[in-house]
Amino acid sequence: MDLNVPTTSASFSDHLATYSHFLAKGLIAMQQCKQCKTFRFPPANICASCSSDQYDWHALSGRGIIWSYCVFHKDYFPNESRKIPYVVVLIQLEEGPRVFSNMTDVDVNSLQIGLPVRAIFEDQPNAETLLRFRLAGGDT
Ligand SMILES: [Zn+2]
Repeated sequence: MDLNVPTTSASFSDHLATYSHFLAKGLIAMQQCKQCKTFRFPPANICASCSSDQYDWHALSGRGIIWSYCVFHKDYFPNESRKIPYVVVLIQLEEGPRVFSNMTDVDVNSLQIGLPVRAIFEDQPNAETLLRFRLAGGDT
């Protein structure tokens, strides 16, 4: 789905602001190259595949699989309140791009590479919305 976002003269900060804007609306949106259809993530002005500067923003399904993960049993960032252990995942999205994120509401002993996940959007006290994932459990 083309999200009809103006794409002229955008800086990296503009791209991140657009990405964050859509997260706050409960959408994963990524740039897609108009020439070769490769998704760009993180956002960029030039396609890493064909060097085109033409792109559109597209909404992704939010579905994917666990490509890889790591369980942290120590909090390396004690200023951020989080439950220990926590899980950092690399998610292979259905449309192809891979994103790093965290799993929520998950038994770390049940994790496996290849399990289906779906995106959730966590509103933070600072008004930022973070992309997280939850096991899909048959609802995909
Ligand atoms: Zn391209």
